[in-house]
Amino acid sequence: MISSTSTDMPRETEALKPTISAPVLQLVDVRKTFGDFAAVDGVNVDIKEGEFVTIVGPSGSGKTTLLRMLAGMEAPSNGYITLRGELINHVPADKRPTCLVFQSLALFPHKTVGENIEFPLKVRKMPPAERKARALELMRMVRLPEHYYSKNVMRCSGGEKQRVALARAFAYDPDVLFFDEPLSALDYKLKKVLEKELKDLHRESGKTFVYITHSLEEAMVMSDRVGVMSRGRIVQIGTPEEIYTRPATRFVAEFFGEVNSFEVRRNPGGDWSLADGAPIVVTRTSDAIGDKATVIVRPETMRFVTGPSSADNLISGKIYNEYSLGSRVQYQVHSGQRVYLVEVTRAASAGLSAGDLVTIGWDARDAIVVGD
Ligand code: ATP
Repeated sequence: MISSTSTDMPRETEALKPTISAPVLQLVDVRKTFGDFAAVDGVNVDIKEGEFVTIVGPSGSGKTTLLRMLAGMEAPSNGYITLRGELINHVPADKRPTCLVFQSLALFPHKTVGENIEFPLKVRKMPPAERKARALELMRMVRLPEHYYSKNVMRCSGGEKQRVALARAFAYDPDVLFFDEPLSALDYKLKKVLEKELKDLHRESGKTFVYITHSLEEAMVMSDRVGVMSRGRIVQIGTPEEIYTRPATRFVAEFFGEVNSFEVRRNPGGDWSLADGAPIVVTRTSDAIGDKATVIVRPETMRFVTGPSSADNLISGKIYNEYSLGSRVQYQVHSGQRVYLVEVTRAASAGLSAGDLVTIGWDARDAIVVGD
């Protein structure tokens, strides 16, 4: 379903590249409480003009509540939301130059693709010929063939309907587009195609996109920045690469894919050791952690060590199982009470099988110490 709200007449499509500069949206200490419960608990974030920001987080972390406040469907209980410097806390959805694209599309079922896309233009009393020209332009933008203009929307596939919904959202010519898991009902292959198309569309339109999803992959592929939400707060926001390689907390690291995590303590000399006293060599430490922390090592930065090659950290163990991931293979290696995940290329996996005694290793630069 699309709700929109722009009252301005649409402008011509301009193939702008996004110019990331001043904040278009600012959230200052935004909270939303339902009774005693804070669904959103003090969010501070600046979203820049032309940015693609995705908020990810587990179910119940507050993503939808946050997006509903941004779109004007809920008012914050505390804090401020500004759009281009103007306070919009209590501006209703239909008075904001923003547009929300939902997973359930709410297209008009008995109307054609063209009529659906033209709806916002008709409401604004744009003359029919101009409307049609604009609809066709938007259809090209979302890669819908021109002859679909007169096709009944219910005869379109799921992916085509999603494109119609997007074209209709763009017909409102909003300043900011909000997306509430629009791809979650589609099959994997189509989702992968549309993820890339959305990213292209963002680039071509120059608009600001704010997107929420459970899907890490979606967030990583499409976004300029990813904000990770947990219990009503944004616990880290950064580029996909920053979030992946420099997680601020164990929660973020574990949310962003499988990891090896070891509880460690800081020795009086400042170095770290495992709970059983074994030393562990690390070089990177996230901010604000105490003397008890967790070391995170991603499976793909671990390797099997043979012959003269070595690594800063070495562990002997036995391969328990292997899992094919396509071009890569993941191994579960048992060593004492610990289980390690090691992921290598298919070429590097040659000759390895369950039951083999192996040495695994990783370098200090690939381990990061994080707080909880
Ligand atoms: P999901 O990914 O499952 O959609 P989410 O991260 O979007 O989850 P929200 O829908 O924002 O999470 O909900 C956050 C918390 O706020 C949940 O515990 C939810 O039950 C609660 N909540 C949301 N809306 C209301 C409401 N109107 N009244 C009471 N509690 C609510």
